[in-house]
Amino acid sequence: MSVYRGRFAPSPTGPLHFGSLVSAVGSFLQARSQNGLWLLRMEDVDQTRCFTQAADSILRTLEAYDLYWDESYMVQTQRSEAYTYALQQLHELDQVYACACSRKAIATHNQTQGHPPGFYAGLCRNGIPNDTFKTHEQMSVRVKVENQCLGFEDRVQGFWQQNLEQEVGDFVIRRADGLFAYQLAVVVDDRDQGITEIVRGSDLIDSTPRQRYLQSLLGIPSPDYIHLPVAQNAQGEKLSKQTHAPALPLERPVIWLWQALDFLGQQPPRDLQEADLDAFWDWAIRHWRLEQVPKVLGSEYQPFHSRASTRCSN
Ligand code: GLU
Repeated sequence: MSVYRGRFAPSPTGPLHFGSLVSAVGSFLQARSQNGLWLLRMEDVDQTRCFTQAADSILRTLEAYDLYWDESYMVQTQRSEAYTYALQQLHELDQVYACACSRKAIATHNQTQGHPPGFYAGLCRNGIPNDTFKTHEQMSVRVKVENQCLGFEDRVQGFWQQNLEQEVGDFVIRRADGLFAYQLAVVVDDRDQGITEIVRGSDLIDSTPRQRYLQSLLGIPSPDYIHLPVAQNAQGEKLSKQTHAPALPLERPVIWLWQALDFLGQQPPRDLQEADLDAFWDWAIRHWRLEQVPKVLGSEYQPFHSRASTRCSN
């Protein structure tokens, strides 16, 4: 019986692009090379950014690339009961409080105090009674963090640690607009999908201590974590919808899969580009070596043709 349970958790804010393909391929191969299961989750908790057509397009692309998931996929917008229950648990533990600070107020405070952007200095921690969030619609809910270093061993990036109180501050688990925050949703979902190892982009590595902290508060065993290098454009920006990363085409999937494998340091032979999907995946699963994945947080993604021409000019 298989015990390994991995997952791919795209946010349907737009179609899949090369950056998301790298995470899909890395997590898929890590699962399949261990005869494990690979689950899918649509992370549409931020309803202000996600839309149904994007989710449909992601599913179609995964199928066209033979990235078939196990079990039925999870959809965050159908999960508010589970998130509400987790929030209630944290409330009962006296670990949460309502926060009335606007983003602007926080930014101004951080600027005057010399804190990094995004830091929260606990301004409402003692100011608003704990149960106020039930009646004040416009308030966010934050979880109290502690002044201690939380570390974990990442099998690609090595040991990684953060002091949540000094580097992040009490963080939002339900937003002022009433939507649950990604940090809470992901922890509850990974628990309910029984995920044993999370393989995802290194842009999320500094969320991991927050998620592990929530797991410890909620009594959830922490899965293992692997953070893959993130594909960047020539300007050093992560490929994303915001940076106008192009959608993956449905035609000739092996070309793109080959490039994802190459980006992940697996050194696929050139003639694998001519293979059909079955032969491609057969090679990729048999040759997957986690130790070959480059230990960089992000690196420039150079499409095959431009890299080849650089080589040719030597
Ligand atoms: N939904 C996130 C994204 O698309 C990934 C979250 C995760 O893997 O934990 O970037």
